[in-house]
Amino acid sequence: MKKNVRVRFAPSPTGPLHIGGLRTALFNYLFAKQNNGEFLLRIEDTDRNRYLEHAEQYILDALDWCNISIDEGPNNNGAFGPYRQSERLDIYKSYAMKLVAMGKAYYAFDTNESLNLLRQAKEKEGESFVYNWQNRMGLNNSLGLDAHEVQTKLRSKSPYVIRFIMHSSVENQPFFTEDMIREKSEINIALLDDKIIFKSDGYPTYHLANVIDDHLMNITHVIRGEEWLPSLALHKRLYEAFNWEVPEFAHLPLILKPNGKGKLSKRDGDAMGFPVFPLTWKDQKGYKENGFLSEAVVNFLALLGWHPDNNKEVFSLAELISAFDLKNVVKGGAKFDYNKAIWFNHQHIQRLKSSFLEEKIRTLLIRKEIKTTIALNHVINLIRDRLNTLDDLWDESKFFFIRPNEYDEKAKKKVWKENTKKLIEEIILLIEEDKVYSTLSIKERINTFIHDNGLKMGMIMGPLRIALIGEMKGPDLFEIIKLIGRDETIKRLNIGIKLIK
Ligand code: GLU
Repeated sequence: MKKNVRVRFAPSPTGPLHIGGLRTALFNYLFAKQNNGEFLLRIEDTDRNRYLEHAEQYILDALDWCNISIDEGPNNNGAFGPYRQSERLDIYKSYAMKLVAMGKAYYAFDTNESLNLLRQAKEKEGESFVYNWQNRMGLNNSLGLDAHEVQTKLRSKSPYVIRFIMHSSVENQPFFTEDMIREKSEINIALLDDKIIFKSDGYPTYHLANVIDDHLMNITHVIRGEEWLPSLALHKRLYEAFNWEVPEFAHLPLILKPNGKGKLSKRDGDAMGFPVFPLTWKDQKGYKENGFLSEAVVNFLALLGWHPDNNKEVFSLAELISAFDLKNVVKGGAKFDYNKAIWFNHQHIQRLKSSFLEEKIRTLLIRKEIKTTIALNHVINLIRDRLNTLDDLWDESKFFFIRPNEYDEKAKKKVWKENTKKLIEEIILLIEEDKVYSTLSIKERINTFIHDNGLKMGMIMGPLRIALIGEMKGPDLFEIIKLIGRDETIKRLNIGIKLIK
């Protein structure tokens, strides 16, 4: 029988979740949901030196904002908890001891100083020091020392770590790792070191805790960042040592800097002027606070390293769940492109319900204490395709609600001529006389005027726009004239011809 898919997102709360981590969470979530499986959140907080108090809450908030719902996690009831590693220390200790008892791991009493000396000595010879089958018997550990000495050290509470036997000199079987995204590869484990799996502070290292938890939590697929690929051999060895079934692995490609040179880092945001966090962290603004919709963030993250079978680009979360396929995840790093992220946001803004955007404008108006009788759904219709982020809402719509308090210098120079004042006065008359006052009637009147007087469009439309809005932007002018109303239009034009020189 096929096993029920169970995946986990296992962040370490050492800082805010950045978009790379969020993409890992997303791919796990998509894979789980399309297989009717479970998505777990496990907090890997065994590195006490780098632990940051608010990071866990940040991770929860970021997932929540993206609508990535957690089936089992620290705050959900799940049968496989606790889901915070610091609450599972006894479990790790007992499994570490099992490995020692089975002769697959050993106590190592070497001090940092003695290991440093060994490293330096090797470096002098142009080599690097590797603690493994070639030298472990001569070092300060429970394999090299005699049993009595080991007992004395343990009894006198000498500090120790536990190291895992990566390879023994009697083995010569070829060793392979497999990954759903990459080819099978042969690893020469004789070159690898005996990694520490249990530290002297009583905490397991990432490797041990991660493997034990994935096993005990029945994880079927481990989907994580490419930076963990080098640990795959060790993890597989650990599964084998315990005689546990090895889950499937998929290592996601790195997210690269926009220029393709190196991994996108948390520091790049500041340096390159775009957000790298979903939500604000300290003084670094997040996507949300930059006017992004979570749907757009989810969409652009999904396409960093994955592509659908067709050329479709704009997806909702639900659409991603059905279209996602681990087989279409690429090996090569995915270049981050902020302009493309904005493009996705623009696309998702076009998909929003008008009422959502109206509410945003309403809130802004209340905050600015501006009263209006203008129908906000009309405003939204006119400006929606001009919005890249929600932050653009005010900039693109403010002229409906407030008169310009300055006029763009460059535009003025370009369009305001000697005879402009006279022409605008004529337009004011036309507008006053227009009893119908519809977009169409205004348009017809002004167009007829332009035509009958042998004028060029720009001689009227440019100055009108400047006088009404203050700059050369915005949607269709006749629509604006209609929406702000006759009185307001005439007022603005009269002010314009007085102030614009
Ligand atoms: N705690 C690890 C991290 O933060 C998890 C890696 C994994 O998914 O195995 O990246």
